Amino acid sequence: MKITTKINLMTTAWILCVLLAVNAVVFFSFMKITVNMENVELLQKADNVIREMKMADSPLKIKEIFTPYLTNHNFIRTVQSNSKITDQATNDQFLAAKIKPKYVHKKETERRTIRRNDKEEQILIVRVPDSSGAITLEVAEKLSGLELAKDVLLSILAFCTIFGALLALLGGRWLSNLIMRPITNMINTMEDIEQSGIPKKIIIQHETKDELQKMAVTFNRMIGRLETNLEKQRQFISDASHELKTPLTVIKSYADLLLRRGLQNEEVAHDAIESIHSEATRIQKMTERFLDLADTESGDLLEIKLIHLVSFCENIFKQLKSAYKREISLHYQDASISAAADELKLKQAIIILIDNAIKYSTDKIDVYLEGNEQYTIITVKDYGIGISEFEIDNIFERFYRVDKARSRETGGTGLGLAIAKNIMKQHQGEIKVKSTEGVGTEVGLFLPKWKVGKELFLNDQNIND
Ligand code: ADP
Repeated sequence: MKITTKINLMTTAWILCVLLAVNAVVFFSFMKITVNMENVELLQKADNVIREMKMADSPLKIKEIFTPYLTNHNFIRTVQSNSKITDQATNDQFLAAKIKPKYVHKKETERRTIRRNDKEEQILIVRVPDSSGAITLEVAEKLSGLELAKDVLLSILAFCTIFGALLALLGGRWLSNLIMRPITNMINTMEDIEQSGIPKKIIIQHETKDELQKMAVTFNRMIGRLETNLEKQRQFISDASHELKTPLTVIKSYADLLLRRGLQNEEVAHDAIESIHSEATRIQKMTERFLDLADTESGDLLEIKLIHLVSFCENIFKQLKSAYKREISLHYQDASISAAADELKLKQAIIILIDNAIKYSTDKIDVYLEGNEQYTIITVKDYGIGISEFEIDNIFERFYRVDKARSRETGGTGLGLAIAKNIMKQHQGEIKVKSTEGVGTEVGLFLPKWKVGKELFLNDQNIND
């Protein structure tokens, strides 16, 4: 069943229930109040008759006392203690015969329903004992006013109920359409996206500021993110293919050269093979970087450990020093300084920074371990070519290199700092750079301080922001 039909039927059923409950309350209250009023009137009548009976000088005149109180549908009579009628006056013999006489000791009211010609009639009877208690005065009257009023009231209530139910049905349909319009809009947009494969936003026509608008805004935000990610992905594929194109062209041209002349000339063959080897190594390094980048962007779970930074850094330097033969000095005030991080990822980030320092400087390299209230900071400082202030904002972008030729010479891919930045984001940390052209560069990794009970590492947060 459609949601609109459901809302419609449910609201109508609910309003119908409410109307029926209200009608019942109105009906029964009306009946009670009206019968009470009739009751008071009849008791008054009975009291008057009893008073007049008391004043009567002859028992023979009793019937005469009753006569002025007679209507077309009532009776007045006196009943003895053996339930025998002593005097009775009535214009409605049928009614008088239908109600059995009853002797009472104290005032009593009774409401009875009798059947006359297949029609029901409501009869109100009051019984009042006289002051001596010897007889009971019984006055009964057909509640014809009540009958009429009851019929009118029932008709009005029935009409109101049907009218109310109709209004509820129409109102429910209008309301459900109003609620469903943005949802239908959203479903259509989603179907469009599914069919075309192209992310599309919902058009928000009115600023309603309700939950449905919030849902549409959230959906649009999600689509926006999807679009940005798709754009980033497209950009990455185009950049990566572009980057791979140069070494592949070099490899192809040397392979051509080998095919044409290489085998006759040993020197040419040697040069060609060396170049092919170097470009292939470059492609290999680049693809490794691609994988690293994808890994740091995927938001995989980190394996957070408490790392003692002094021994951790010394181990890394040992490996690097033997490969690059460069002087790397570690500086710290607190020998027990530690950080909570994923060991492999942190190592990867530190190596990227030191690798850059090695590539873009020739002097010594200093690494500082410090801490403040919020962060544990690892700073790599070199005294090399530095970066101009106009370039500094771009160096974290993928494939960005200040000096392409130099970077190519040194085997740079332009992905190192982008990977390091992602790693810091995974750790909810930061990476900051200070540099002066011709003086040197300082890059700091800021790792949030580990606190018990505080969840610092929500790994997939904002990696792609
Ligand atoms: P690459 O693999 O080319 O080094 P990175 O992403 O690590 O790529 O660095 C991006 C660019 O930032 C580099 O090409 C270089 O121009 C500049 N850069 C990075 N680190 C330094 C540094 N320590 N000194 C000078 N320039 C640097």
